[in-house]
Amino acid sequence: MGKVVLIKPRKKCEIADLLPSNIGRASMVHSLIESFEELYSEIDIKVADLADISDLKTYHNSSYIDYLMQRGSSDDKEFEDKEDMDEFYGLQYDCYPFDQMTEYVQETCGGTLSAVSELLKNRESSKNKHKKLRLNVELNQKSNNTSNSDSRSEFEKAYSEKTVVAIHWEGGRHHGHKSNASGFCYINDIVIGILKIQKSLEYMPKIMYIDLDLHHGNGVQNAFFYSNNVLSLSIHHFDHETRFFPFSGGEILGNDSESKLAKNGMTLNVPLKKGLNDENFIYIFDEIVVKIVSEFNPEYIVVQCGCDGLAGDPANIWNLTIVSYLHAIRKLLEYTVSNDNNLSKNSPDNQNEKIRKSADNNSDKKRLLVLGGGGYNNTNVARCWTAITLYLTKYFNSGEFMSFEEVVDTLVPDHEFIENYSPYYDLSIEANHLQKDENTREYLDFVIEKVQSVWCKST
Ligand SMILES: [Zn+2]
Repeated sequence: MGKVVLIKPRKKCEIADLLPSNIGRASMVHSLIESFEELYSEIDIKVADLADISDLKTYHNSSYIDYLMQRGSSDDKEFEDKEDMDEFYGLQYDCYPFDQMTEYVQETCGGTLSAVSELLKNRESSKNKHKKLRLNVELNQKSNNTSNSDSRSEFEKAYSEKTVVAIHWEGGRHHGHKSNASGFCYINDIVIGILKIQKSLEYMPKIMYIDLDLHHGNGVQNAFFYSNNVLSLSIHHFDHETRFFPFSGGEILGNDSESKLAKNGMTLNVPLKKGLNDENFIYIFDEIVVKIVSEFNPEYIVVQCGCDGLAGDPANIWNLTIVSYLHAIRKLLEYTVSNDNNLSKNSPDNQNEKIRKSADNNSDKKRLLVLGGGGYNNTNVARCWTAITLYLTKYFNSGEFMSFEEVVDTLVPDHEFIENYSPYYDLSIEANHLQKDENTREYLDFVIEKVQSVWCKST
């Protein structure tokens, strides 16, 4: 079945909690996850590594990282023109320098790199195991030995050791640019993580980046704008009038940049209006994301689960509940494990054939990297990300999907922040039933058609 790895911040979230836009959020998320003792015992927990400066420079401009590292250290007095330099590198307004910023940046990026390492770890060993197992099966056949069931259980055991999903809730800093900070993002751990996947393999895998944050995933899009192997798809709010941050990703609504984006069809943007509810999110997700995932057939999916689109978020733009996020995760998980599922359902009679096929096609390659992002109601973010962690872990332990109702009705155990969950003390988030969804079915169908036409340019 495979397993889930959760990356935990270092030092009891002391550093992760310092991000100025999300003070104390990491503690709330991890305290809630840990309060589910049974769940916690079933997850494979790894503590985030600290990224090296060289890791940060695999994407970011060297002079930006040098400045960021020195500016974030305790001794930054040597910069006489600090204000100008800060402005130049975007370290102002919502991205101001803060105490221990250096360590925060290294940990945020390091956590995503740890998650990527977990996903890559079993690749080689898994490949070798396939070879060995295939050899065993062939030997068994030659000697007319009927121990197929032994081979099968050995094969399943090998499968159970691999990490299929890795989660890093402190990652997902999607606005980070190559040479400057932006939108609460000092570095772009997503880009650095994707580059690590590419560099670690002997070939160029197909990678799909899916961004569910309320804001456009501009930093990741820009990094892979000309890639033929990384497909970037962002679902976000876009508004011409308010120039909603970062005021990009609305190309399909106008004509100016459409031709530019359509060049290779690997940059897909889904601009949506205010009030998006679960029903319309699920409609657009199935009509666009699910179809394109199956057509693109990526080996790696990286999903940014920023949840500032939840009802009750201070952004107050969308009206989603946890059900939207669980739906998205379920669809991506179904895709990721589809071959594994087929294998587990095979009868013993054709198991040898399946093992062979699996090894030959490398069909166990798919991996899912789940990252965090925005979300400014700490309690609701903790609910949403704990619900996803619970959902994924239970699937890998039981082989069955929990119902969404069961997940959201789960009661919050007593823990440090229990009072935040009153009055119902569960994982549910209520939609605002008075808020109108401005995304009409006609508008959604228009968006679906436009995105499909851009996507078709790549195929
Ligand atoms: Zn956001």
